[in-house]
Amino acid sequence: MPLYEFRCEACGQVQEFLLRLGDGPDGLACRRCGAARLTKQFSTFATVSGSSALPAAPCGASGGCGSGFS
Ligand SMILES: [Zn+2]
Repeated sequence: MPLYEFRCEACGQVQEFLLRLGDGPDGLACRRCGAARLTKQFSTFATVSGSSALPAAPCGASGGCGSGFS
């Protein structure tokens, strides 16, 4: 069962909830303040890959892949 992060719109607390696939935040409530306004967060790895540093291209700037262009 996948684990999803939800952020409480009321208090900003980020919490993890186990949901079945396709389930929304219906019925979930903040464990801190009890509000039911929870917003699904992107997974951690997606957040990281979307941030500043892009991974280096496999061929790199050192010309590792040989003469790919013709
Ligand atoms: Zn809350």
